[in-house]
Amino acid sequence: MDFRLTDEQQAFRDTLRRFVDREIIPVASEWERTGRYPAEIVEQMKEMGLFGLTVPAEYGGLGVDMVSFSLVFEEISRGWMGVAGIIGSHSVSCLMIANHGTEAQKKEFLPRLATGEIRTGLGLTESGAGTDLQGIATTARLDGDHYVVRGAKMWITNARYANPLPVLVKTDPKAEPRHRGMSILLIDTDSPGFTVSKDIGKLGYKGTESCEIVLDDVRVPADRLLGGVEGRGMQQALSALECGRINIASRAVGVAQAAYDAALDYSRQRTAFGHPISDFQAIQIKIADMATELQAARLLVYWAASLADEGGRGDMESGMAKLFASEVALKAAMEAMRVHGGYGYSTEFIVERLYRDAPLMCIGEGTNDIMRMVIAKQLIAGTRTIG
Ligand SMILES: Cc1cc2nc3c(=O)[nH]c(=O)nc-3n(C[C@H](O)[C@H](O)[C@H](O)COP(=O)(O)OP(=O)(O)OC[C@H]3O[C@@H](n4cnc5c(N)ncnc54)[C@H](O)[C@@H]3O)c2cc1C
Repeated sequence: MDFRLTDEQQAFRDTLRRFVDREIIPVASEWERTGRYPAEIVEQMKEMGLFGLTVPAEYGGLGVDMVSFSLVFEEISRGWMGVAGIIGSHSVSCLMIANHGTEAQKKEFLPRLATGEIRTGLGLTESGAGTDLQGIATTARLDGDHYVVRGAKMWITNARYANPLPVLVKTDPKAEPRHRGMSILLIDTDSPGFTVSKDIGKLGYKGTESCEIVLDDVRVPADRLLGGVEGRGMQQALSALECGRINIASRAVGVAQAAYDAALDYSRQRTAFGHPISDFQAIQIKIADMATELQAARLLVYWAASLADEGGRGDMESGMAKLFASEVALKAAMEAMRVHGGYGYSTEFIVERLYRDAPLMCIGEGTNDIMRMVIAKQLIAGTRTIG
């Protein structure tokens, strides 16, 4: 077993690290606090090809391996997790279109998604259904050569920039089992009846918008049905979520790294009783635990990512990585705050932002309790083993 990155992956990480150190970290706290959209960072990410991470090379993307994909989200989140959101659901949906789209859909959208000329997100959740996606109420009724979509979506990241937006709908609301009646439509967000009705106020994860969307009899050409066959939407969405979980797990590693870095630096500088606080064993224990848990999370994420590269079913592994890394990030943010004493509570120090950003990773792409169920179900059924 080789736990090291390849030379190519290391060089890619170095490039990302320089970008984050120079362009994101110096502006992150102020832009986050003032609610400024990171438009300049978006332009730089376009130039670096980061909007094409999951777009295959034949359609103009980078088509990176999942470990390199993970490095992108780790490094960017070390600087500002909100910025990772801008390419997060975009990348997940690009992969979904690449894996499940018709050739015409791939040709129409992927090359422009890869450059960032057009951008996207993913519209699954509704006010009444998040975990239970089969409980969504948005419907799409066929009327000639168009679907007529009616419903509403909640918490949709990148909603103000996405076009097209893949939206999960019920094409057959009476189907049993329910997933057989579900499909994904690539909806033109300029269409009459499509409204981004509200930006949802959030604890953290600023920099990217999360919105409510209303679909009021939106007419969508039938050739915008992802893959061209009805009833596959749930499977298409779930297959994309595996990549989404690696994305979230990697963001968690980045946030945990930032918390650890801040705690280590501060412990060396802050003095109490005539000593740097790093001389005190109580602080040393925190530093040691944070570093150990961070490295364990990182290895688990790279392991899940490298298994995803090998193909085959990897939802248990990506679930483990997402579950563990997000809990590590939450704990690291809290421990970094303890190391900072009162200053950890101040907006002058980044740990306050990390503390607000960390919980999202326990919720997004399936809550951690759902990850536990995904893992346990397979172990108990004996379809997977550990060790
Ligand atoms: C900042 C942010 C950005 C987001 N971006 C997007 C986006 O871009 N696109 C999108 O589609 N969605 C997005 N989401 C939505 C996110 O995916 C959902 O919030 C998440 O899936 C949980 O759904 P829910 O909020 O409806 O919670 P619920 O499903 O109502 O869950 C509430 C609680 O019940 C528990 N629970 C539910 N079912 C079970 C069960 N069977 N067994 C045990 N426990 C259960 C959950 O674990 C949780 O603790 C975003 C959310 C946030 C906060």
